[in-house]
Amino acid sequence: MSTVTGIVLAGGSGTRMGMAKNKTLLSLCGKSVLARSMEALAPFVDDLIVVYRGEDREAVQDVAAREAVLSCPVRMTLGGDTRQASVRSGLAALPDSCGTVLIHDAARCLVDAETILRVLQSAKEYGSGVAAVPVVDTIKKAGEALEVEETLRRDQLWAVQTPQGFRRPLIEQAHAEAEKDGWVGTDDASLLERLGQPVHLVMGSRHNIKLTTPEDLAMAEVFLRGSAPAVSPLRIGQGYDVHQFAQGRPLILCGIEVPYSLGLDGHSDADVAVHALMDAMLGALSLGDIGKHFPDTDDRYRGISSLELLRHVMGLMAERHAQLVNADITIVAQTPKLAPYIPAMRAKLAEVLAVPEDRVSVKATTTERLGFEGRKEGISSQAVVLMQLTD
Ligand code: MG
Repeated sequence: MSTVTGIVLAGGSGTRMGMAKNKTLLSLCGKSVLARSMEALAPFVDDLIVVYRGEDREAVQDVAAREAVLSCPVRMTLGGDTRQASVRSGLAALPDSCGTVLIHDAARCLVDAETILRVLQSAKEYGSGVAAVPVVDTIKKAGEALEVEETLRRDQLWAVQTPQGFRRPLIEQAHAEAEKDGWVGTDDASLLERLGQPVHLVMGSRHNIKLTTPEDLAMAEVFLRGSAPAVSPLRIGQGYDVHQFAQGRPLILCGIEVPYSLGLDGHSDADVAVHALMDAMLGALSLGDIGKHFPDTDDRYRGISSLELLRHVMGLMAERHAQLVNADITIVAQTPKLAPYIPAMRAKLAEVLAVPEDRVSVKATTTERLGFEGRKEGISSQAVVLMQLTD
């Protein structure tokens, strides 16, 4: 059975981007241009060949192995000095089963599925399929002195893109002939044209731009953000904790010592409300729980104020550019009566969390004498937080 191979040209020079780095390795909205191109083609081909420049070998390998999420096998092959030589390297690496080739510039990472399908269908039906869009500008031909020699007929002009798809023998022959004659074209279709082979255009997309200048990268970001639903920068987290009453210990809740005959048992100061709060904060950032960060087997945390642990969690938040929007804590206790201490609890937490007091809510409830809290065996606490990622 004849298969389809996608050749992705990752040799794009970054010189017009004003930087030495290969532009296809630049990140676009959190993913490299190359990975985006590979992922775009993968669903429509049986395998991918990525053609790289020697100096980019490791970086390109990394994209293929770690970054791109692919539904087909991928192989790498070293390119040549020119785009045309690189395509030849890709063609030389085609598997025996390959009957149709899709050649794509990795710098066109915004190519859409419909364009690829039209190219593929035309290549299978007519031997060639080349993505292109009608030219909207008036095109003039001018000499070196910028004197116009001719205004071209716009209704006959198309701006050509990639992918370009071909039946394998046609494109292999075209490249072999061009190499033999020392003829260099700016795309693969032109190599067929010079042999008198028909080349079929199919409709491409105006979003399928070739990322050449820094302005292109900015425009691609606009296209991407416009087409994909924005991921909310808000994160929610929830926490829950329980501590048992114990003799001879102070009762610390939200960093405030509440006068009572019993305290809570625990490795640290057993501030059950701050524990629930920290678990909610860690949960919002998917960082596990306080047991992971402050194991009770570690003597450093014996008797420590939970506010110290909270300060550490604040540091983790800052490292991830997260800000607390608000927190809501519920303390479930049959005794003692907590209402008189709630303003001080809110003030203390707001100070440590570095937010205004109106962003920190502390509530207390009993359980109408039901359950372990109702039997005065201990205190539980629940917390929810909302966080905002700032970049
Ligand atoms: Mg605890």
